[in-house]
Amino acid sequence: MSSVTVRVPAKVNVQLSVGPLREDGYHDLVNVFHAVSIFDEVVAKESESITVSVTGKWSDQVPVDDSNLAIRAARALAKHAGRTYGADLIIQKDIPVAGGMAGGSADAAGALVACNELWGLGLPFDDLMEIAGDLGSDVPFSLLGGTAVGTGRGEQLTELPTGGTFHWVFALADGGLSTASVYAECDRLRKASGAEVPWPQLNDSLVEALGTGDAYALGAHLSNDLQPAALNLRPELAPTLEAGRQHGALGAIVSGSGPTCAFLAIDALHARDLALSLTTTGAAHTAVAAHGPVNGPVHGTAVPRRH
Ligand code: ATP
Repeated sequence: MSSVTVRVPAKVNVQLSVGPLREDGYHDLVNVFHAVSIFDEVVAKESESITVSVTGKWSDQVPVDDSNLAIRAARALAKHAGRTYGADLIIQKDIPVAGGMAGGSADAAGALVACNELWGLGLPFDDLMEIAGDLGSDVPFSLLGGTAVGTGRGEQLTELPTGGTFHWVFALADGGLSTASVYAECDRLRKASGAEVPWPQLNDSLVEALGTGDAYALGAHLSNDLQPAALNLRPELAPTLEAGRQHGALGAIVSGSGPTCAFLAIDALHARDLALSLTTTGAAHTAVAAHGPVNGPVHGTAVPRRH
């Protein structure tokens, strides 16, 4: 096999509950991930060494040195297999960079699946999940796709059933937000308020809304504890969220650490209208309609999965 291509979806967090700051600097999370139909494509081609190149509209914002998450993933896989392998990784980037949609994690997951196949390793899904967990807390979900709740740092995943397709609009912002700075701002705001931070709990009503495919109920239960911090750092996002609500969004929320804003629509037609309204009124310079849940990169590849 001389080349393998996989597509990996972005995610939105439909619930992101952030517990108190732990001594190790992390937070315990209840993080409900939902994979949506904005995809990066990762191609792995036979090569002597591991390299990466990036194409597409966000390519100039992505590092192509050893800090690229796809390179780190390929190296971690080679190390796990105990041999030296090479691959030219070519990423076609459609997921916004530093947008709170786990684009880097998607590329890491894509590199794991593509190189596993290119190098003929045949490693099972569970091994890839283990390597993914070491690469970053969002990478295991990027491998899995669908809808799932993550606990711990977000990396211990349980799949959640969904009763239908949800239609979304994502308003893309200029420039990214660093996840670390948003968590730091969240800690600062909490410290300043002096309020006790509750232990994060999975919202049963949200799980039920996902299970029954009820977009109205899901819209009412979307929540993100990082939102106040993201809005403090980027105050211009508040009117964008409000504009979405005015145009009939069932829920409007900052996606993960932001600055992408996510709007839940009634159906595909409403999503198209909402995206158009957000851009024509100037509330967002770019708005993309998408749906979820969608599968992760493992589906349709040779990676064996236990069910
Ligand atoms: P999350 O939602 O997981 O917090 P994010 O979507 O906000 O992440 P990413 O797009 O994953 O953010 O990028 C975060 C940073 O990681 C970027 O600013 C970039 O410097 C770096 N990075 C490393 N590899 C990649 C990659 N393959 N794609 C995008 N960014 C990458």
